Amino acid sequence: MTKTLQPEIPLNPHVAGLPPYNAGMNIAAARRQSGRQDIAALASNENPHGCSPRVAAALANLDPSRYCDPACTTLRAALSQKLGVAGERIVVGNGSEEMIAAVCRAVLSPGALVATVCPGFGLHDIEALANGAKVEKVAMRADLNFDIPAIVAMLERAPAIFFLSSPSNPVGPALDRESLERVLAAVTPQTLLVLDEAYFEFIDNDMPDGLATLSATDLSWVVLRTFSKAYGLAGLRVGYAVTSDVRLARAVAAAKTPFNVNAAAQVAAIAALEDEAWMSSSVAALKLERTRVVDAVAAMGLSSARSQTNFLFIDVGRDSLAAMEHFLSSGIIVKPWKEKGYDTFIRVTIGTPAENDRFLEALRASPGAEACALSTLSITKGAKPHGNEQ
Ligand SMILES: *Cc1c(COP(=O)(O)O)cnc(C)c1O
Repeated sequence: MTKTLQPEIPLNPHVAGLPPYNAGMNIAAARRQSGRQDIAALASNENPHGCSPRVAAALANLDPSRYCDPACTTLRAALSQKLGVAGERIVVGNGSEEMIAAVCRAVLSPGALVATVCPGFGLHDIEALANGAKVEKVAMRADLNFDIPAIVAMLERAPAIFFLSSPSNPVGPALDRESLERVLAAVTPQTLLVLDEAYFEFIDNDMPDGLATLSATDLSWVVLRTFSKAYGLAGLRVGYAVTSDVRLARAVAAAKTPFNVNAAAQVAAIAALEDEAWMSSSVAALKLERTRVVDAVAAMGLSSARSQTNFLFIDVGRDSLAAMEHFLSSGIIVKPWKEKGYDTFIRVTIGTPAENDRFLEALRASPGAEACALSTLSITKGAKPHGNEQ
């Protein structure tokens, strides 16, 4: 018997009306849909090298019968030492996405203004909307970089939270030192700046460390980092928030569920931190591949933003969903972008050299590639072909 929900059960309108999170397709679904076994999973920015072998060794000693530590004491101590930040200012989450939700829950009241950039990371607006905030977005420039004057103008309106992912997901660039300083100078005491550094480990040496830069200010801020990307622990769900002060950390901790980071995730993250050498060499290899893929994409006449991450955001010159189907038929999962003005863009993760070769071959065979090379020419002539203004 199918039941319908009684009208007497009111749904929270903020939550019931949320847009869906656009999650990348998983490997099992890709196998079913493509009929192929050899899937290159390039939609979710995971680490194609896996994770440090120390993680598996640490997990072998786990006792699943015991509750995990709700305060993540050992992991926070390890992070405190690595970052030079008091452990009381760090809150660990079931992925950094949980910390996005907890920060919103801790800070926002219905009707609050939350600002972010477009295109941006879906949860920065979904979690704000879930708490009854209204969300306004600053468009990236047509050349796929941050529009600093527009960000400054938005900050002058004193939103309760400004979410900024730098490096940007999905676009790829990071704020350089001068841009970051200009942004910070515009933050008023009424705004909590949430700097999402999920891709921090992939930035080039000439880019600023957001945590270090914010630490030298007296602003209110949260820096988000994660074990999902460079450390290769996406499936275990562990990320963290570093806050500007202890009171904010306590408020964020109060907004999470008590046993939010399971025992396996805690043990794995500690083991991963003990093997920074594995992470650094994995990231170094991925950055070399990034350069190779960027050059190959450019040689096809396609453009992508300067990426400081483990992915590229590419205009393929045709509907992104059709492009996704094209790649899937070759066993490659990419993420089609759907935001208005960007629905000809795909986001593709840097994989192993063999996976990247497969991607490049399928891109060369993509029907939109020629049309797009023409529109790239018009960008260089100063036209604004993508219509990404708000
Ligand atoms: C991947 C990602 C996250 C979420 O990471 P988890 O720690 O896996 O929850 C947060 N922010 C951005 C910008 C990301 O790309």
